[in-house]
Amino acid sequence: MKPVYNFSAGPSTLPADVLRQVQAELINYSESGMSVMELSHRSNLFEAIINEAELLIRELLSIPDNYKVLFLQGGASQQFAMVPLNLLIGSKQADYVLTGSWSKKAYNEAKKYGEVRIVGEDTINQIPKLTIDSFNPEADYVHITTNNTIEGTTFYQIPDTGDVPLVADMSSNILSTPIDVSKFGLIYAGAQKNIGPAGMTLVIIRDDLIGQAPQSVPTMLDYQTHATADSLYNTPPTFSIYVAKLVFEWLKGLGGLTEMEALNKHKAELLYNKLDQSLLFKSPIDKQDRSLMNVPFVSKAGDEALEAAFLEGAKERGFENLKGHRSVGGMRASIYNAMPYEGVLALVNYITEFEQNQI
Ligand code: PMP
Repeated sequence: MKPVYNFSAGPSTLPADVLRQVQAELINYSESGMSVMELSHRSNLFEAIINEAELLIRELLSIPDNYKVLFLQGGASQQFAMVPLNLLIGSKQADYVLTGSWSKKAYNEAKKYGEVRIVGEDTINQIPKLTIDSFNPEADYVHITTNNTIEGTTFYQIPDTGDVPLVADMSSNILSTPIDVSKFGLIYAGAQKNIGPAGMTLVIIRDDLIGQAPQSVPTMLDYQTHATADSLYNTPPTFSIYVAKLVFEWLKGLGGLTEMEALNKHKAELLYNKLDQSLLFKSPIDKQDRSLMNVPFVSKAGDEALEAAFLEGAKERGFENLKGHRSVGGMRASIYNAMPYEGVLALVNYITEFEQNQI
C-alpha cells in the first residue's frame, strides 16, 4: 500500500509508533490475557494507566499542584455548556472572544445561562488585539479559543484578564507548544487532535473554580463530581485514556513540548513559505496569527475548479482530508503533532508539481 498522509482536522493522524504499540498490546495487555478495552476501570491495571496518564500530562505541561486534571467525555462541545453551568454563577456575566466558528458555538451555548458579551471584533482572518481594558472586571470569566481549527488562526499572546479567570478551548493546539497553565483558570480540549482517539475530553481546572456549581446542575456536568472521584465517578473512556497515555509517552520521548514546538514550527514554515511563494495558492491569514496546526489555503484567483483539480490529484497521491471546512471552502492541511515532516514535504512537492503542470 502506498503511504497515506492524513491531513484531517480531527480525528487526525496518530503517531505511527503509538499505533504499533497499541497493536502489539491489543489482545493481551501486560500479560493480563485481556485487552485494555476489556479491563475493569476499577482494576489495578487500569488505575495504573490513568494515574500514569495524569502524571505524564502534568509533567509535559508543568501543571501546578493547585490544578486538577480531569479525563471526561462529551467532547469539547459539552464543555461549551459545563463551563457556564459551573462558572457563570457570580455576576452571571462573561466575556467571549469570538475568533471563529467554534468560539461562536461556545458563545451561543453560554448565552443560555447568563449575560454574555462579545469581546473584540468578530474577525475571522486575524486575532483581535486585546488589553486588560477590553474585559469586564465584573465578569465571572473570559473565554477564548486559542487555536481556530477552521479559520487557521492562533493566539500567540495570551490576553491579560487580571483577576478574571481565563477559560480556554485548546482543542486544536494543546500539547503543540509549551504553555503557562497558571495564566488560565480552566483549559479544555477534545482528545481527537493532539491527545489521542476521540472519546476523551481533557479538562485542567484550578482548584478554586471547582465546587461552586448550583444544586440544579446535573451530577455528571459538575466538575466537582469528577474531581472528587479522580475521573472515575462512572466508567471513563478507558481505551481513549490508554492511547492518550501512549501519546504522552511518545511526546516525552521526543523531548517534550519545547522540542515538539520546534518540530511544529519547522513543518509549518515549510508549508507557509511555499504558499507565500506560490503563483496559484495563498494563505488567507495574517502572518502574525497563522496557526502551526491548521493551514487553510485557497486559489489566489478564487478559482474553484482549480481547487477541485488540486484536491483530486491530492487524493490520488495519498493525501487525505485536504478539503477545507464546508463553511470556508478551499483547502486545509491540518498538521498536528503526529504529522511527520515528510508528510508536509510531500504536500509541498505536490503543490510545486501541480503548479508546473498548470503553467
Ligand atoms: N473546539 C474546537 C477548537 C474544535 O476544533 C472542535 C472540533 N473540531 C470543537 C471545539 C468541538 O469538539 P468536539 O467534537 O470534541 O465536541
